[in-house]
Amino acid sequence: MAKHQRSLHWFRKGLRLHDNPSLLAAVKGSKEFRAVFILDPFFVKSSNIGINRWRFLMESLRDLDDGLKQLGSRLYVLRGQPSEVFPKLFTQWKVTRLTFESDTEPYAVKRDDLVKTIAEEHGVEIIQKMSHTLYHPQSVIKANGGTPPLTYQRLLTVLSKMTLPKQPEPALSKECIGGCALPVGSDHESEFGLPSLEELGLDPSNAGPHLFPGGETEGLRRMKEQLARQDWVCKFEKPKTEPNTLKPSTTVLSPYLKFGCVSARAFYHGVQDVYTRKKTHSKPPVSLHGQLLWREFYYIAAAGTPNFDKMEGNSVCLQVPWDTNEELLQAWKQGRTGYPFIDAIMIQLKQEGWIHHLARHAVACFLTRGDLWISWEEGQKVFDKWLLDADWSLNAGNWMWLSASAFFHQYFRVYSPIAFGKKTDKNGDYIRKYLPVLKKMPTQYIYEPWIAPRSVQEKAGCLVGTDYPRPIVVHSDVMKRNMARMKQARATKYGDKSNADTTKEAMTDKKKEGSKKRKTKDTDKTSTSKKSKTLTDFY
Ligand code: FAD
Repeated sequence: MAKHQRSLHWFRKGLRLHDNPSLLAAVKGSKEFRAVFILDPFFVKSSNIGINRWRFLMESLRDLDDGLKQLGSRLYVLRGQPSEVFPKLFTQWKVTRLTFESDTEPYAVKRDDLVKTIAEEHGVEIIQKMSHTLYHPQSVIKANGGTPPLTYQRLLTVLSKMTLPKQPEPALSKECIGGCALPVGSDHESEFGLPSLEELGLDPSNAGPHLFPGGETEGLRRMKEQLARQDWVCKFEKPKTEPNTLKPSTTVLSPYLKFGCVSARAFYHGVQDVYTRKKTHSKPPVSLHGQLLWREFYYIAAAGTPNFDKMEGNSVCLQVPWDTNEELLQAWKQGRTGYPFIDAIMIQLKQEGWIHHLARHAVACFLTRGDLWISWEEGQKVFDKWLLDADWSLNAGNWMWLSASAFFHQYFRVYSPIAFGKKTDKNGDYIRKYLPVLKKMPTQYIYEPWIAPRSVQEKAGCLVGTDYPRPIVVHSDVMKRNMARMKQARATKYGDKSNADTTKEAMTDKKKEGSKKRKTKDTDKTSTSKKSKTLTDFY
């Protein structure tokens, strides 16, 4: 085949050399290849990205550059708006083909449409491939009759009629590149090198402990390490993992999947390989495959729902008259609610950038329908800033779930900010780690220090109201008030005064699944074991 293309690959997510079909398409039949990442300086200054995620991103780009270097190429890091950068590059490098991974987020769709128009004007061919998710969200929507499946069960039904996720593609190699030229100038470092955090106007001393370094190399190492725990992989049941262990009880592959340092398909098939070696394994929704399918679920729902990250104009979201209360919001955000379990989680989030799924449940429920009655959109913003894995679709979808605004409707199940954490960490070691002020509080008071006698507080060196805040709300009171408000909001939307899940689709599913569904009433992957599925566990 005659090699005539001058290709440019545009990295955005998908920060990896393995299983990257659009990257492979860039070198195929090309006589020249370059890869770029575009940093928008305005975005750097104004964006809602915490320092830990910036560090993760920069490390991921460094790793990508190292990987390309080993193949004889480099990563070209450019600054500016893509719509302004590309016309210059197309001309300067005589580009004939632009490749990138498809992205379904609304801002990305707009950006890419603009770049595609510009490319067309320059006579540049576009190759776009979907590899961020296991399935193409639009093909699942199509298979579901034009709308996204809005229950997990429905998703499984639709997927059961589709082919399994494709096997990962081989990593970019010298063989794939063949004789393709890889121009790298002697001025590469100064012209196109990766800026430091300081150069981006960020202060690295504000970053937290370096627990999850960014990059494909580290992501693949982590994935391999997790997959090597074959019994654990096969027995994995998300509800049985714990929110407050001092070492994560789940994989922490989320930041790597978010940036695409690890391919979802590589992880899916890695898990599948482990399954085939064992007699039995757990199943969705609680298994590791099940977790990846939750990811699909939200990606597909988000791709097919306008205004997915907002309450207003969002067809799947319950309209709730949330309160505005800056003081309560700040107390939640800064870990000063006076409920040690909630505060410890928020401190871990801010310092480390990752918290367990059930910890996310606890603080999200507390902010919204459980205690503070503040909109999930406010919580979404905070998570968006501080999470290493902050992901537009997953963040919005899970916040709607937790606030019983969509997908999950059992608003009467409320997490207790006192009892929930105690179940898996009686001694409160997690609280002691993230709230050192409570380090010496006796175990019987660690989840509710305000009930400790003054003498005990003095001895522990922590006076409630002085050294640690009093509870900002009385959980048992606000919870009841909020439940009534939620019932009212649902009655307005669904005309239901019952506690039943009355969304159209859930009702259809219920009919279809009949008694099977009734037997497993709570399909939430995060619900606790059957034994503990009583109201008291959630109150
Ligand atoms: P594991 O249990 O090891 O699961 C493996 C992978 O499956 C994860 O890395 C993730 O990609 C996917 N996954 C697991 N649970 C979910 C889920 N509930 N929804 C979608 N995908 C899932 N996850 C994000 O990646 N980004 C977010 O911005 C995000 N925001 C959330 C906000 C709230 C309020 C809640 C309750 C959950 C949120 N999650 C988000 C989902 C979930 O908490 C994290 O994906 C998970 O805790 C990451 O840890 P892990 O990699 O160890 O997960």
